[in-house]
Amino acid sequence: MTWEKNVRRVVPYVAGEQPNKTGMVKLNTNECPYPPAPGVKAILQELDREALRLYPDTDAVGLVEALADHYGLEPEQIFVGVGSDDVLAMSYLTFFHSGRPILFPDVTYSFYDVWAKLFGIPYKTCALDENWHIRPKDYVGSNGGVIFPNPNAPTGLAESLDTVEQIVGANRDVVVIVDEAYVDFGAESALPLLKKYDNLLVVQTFSKSRAMAGVRIGFAMGSKKLIRFLKDVKFSFNSYTMNYPAQKLGVEAVKDDAYFRSITQKVMDTRTRAKEEFRRLGFSFPDSMANFLFVTHERIPAAELFTALRKENIYVRHWDKPRIDNYLRITIGTDEEMDKLFTFLKKYLESN
Ligand code: PMP
Repeated sequence: MTWEKNVRRVVPYVAGEQPNKTGMVKLNTNECPYPPAPGVKAILQELDREALRLYPDTDAVGLVEALADHYGLEPEQIFVGVGSDDVLAMSYLTFFHSGRPILFPDVTYSFYDVWAKLFGIPYKTCALDENWHIRPKDYVGSNGGVIFPNPNAPTGLAESLDTVEQIVGANRDVVVIVDEAYVDFGAESALPLLKKYDNLLVVQTFSKSRAMAGVRIGFAMGSKKLIRFLKDVKFSFNSYTMNYPAQKLGVEAVKDDAYFRSITQKVMDTRTRAKEEFRRLGFSFPDSMANFLFVTHERIPAAELFTALRKENIYVRHWDKPRIDNYLRITIGTDEEMDKLFTFLKKYLESN
């Protein structure tokens, strides 16, 4: 077909599967195992017809103000989008425009190279060290920008604020994006650095620690100048991305800090217990600060365990990729869900 040669061809990102089976234990996409804040459900029931008939506020002012208030920033320092994937994609389009390669770790969120290819942005990956840590010296020198998650995914390892600052400080002529999708489970946020660095963009999400993956809310925080550039690109693309119900529900979630703290603490407590259990069963893993563990077994290959778990209706994530193909990424579920996982693993490991 002649028209086919004029098509933009891409290899898309593959998200974790979303099965819907009764009795399944779903530990494959890092969702929160607890419901959103009670106020979120109350607002959902109150939403009237007007929430659907009218266009939503393009600037999502209510949500932006709630976030500004919560994080001690000016509203002009906040940009919201449809999940952090949307915010990150807009950030690539806005900030990675130099023609020089952008840098990110070799083992990291597998959307990073997909966006680079989609937007025609050259990129280079920097190998994590043998303990899965970022080597800040790899990020020194000419580049078109830097992006990394902290904590990293799928390893769960967090870098110190000092490491993050070294990277931001060494790259003052480009934008450095710190993807903090998993920061609320015990890692240190780069937010305090915003006072010092106008080239830093910190991106977070409601999908994990606020239990709202289905509502799709992500946000970026940075200098007013960065946010203005980001908005200019977003408003050149689609004005009405975030729907009105999402904006209203997001405000309720931000308001209930006590609930937010209670569910993130529960996940962290279960993570501590899960680490002990995994160790006892012969697994090793980086010391995760995220709501998942990245585990490898001393004897049984990860691909085999993945298949055995799946047959049991227990969903985890496995990538057939260099360096990580003998690991499973397992989301921290409720204590009951983790018990089901450990009961099965114990039985399986005893008989295999
Ligand atoms: N960044 C990282 C590192 C992630 O793992 C995810 C979840 N897939 C995201 C961003 C995007 O999450 P969301 O679009 O739900 O905010």
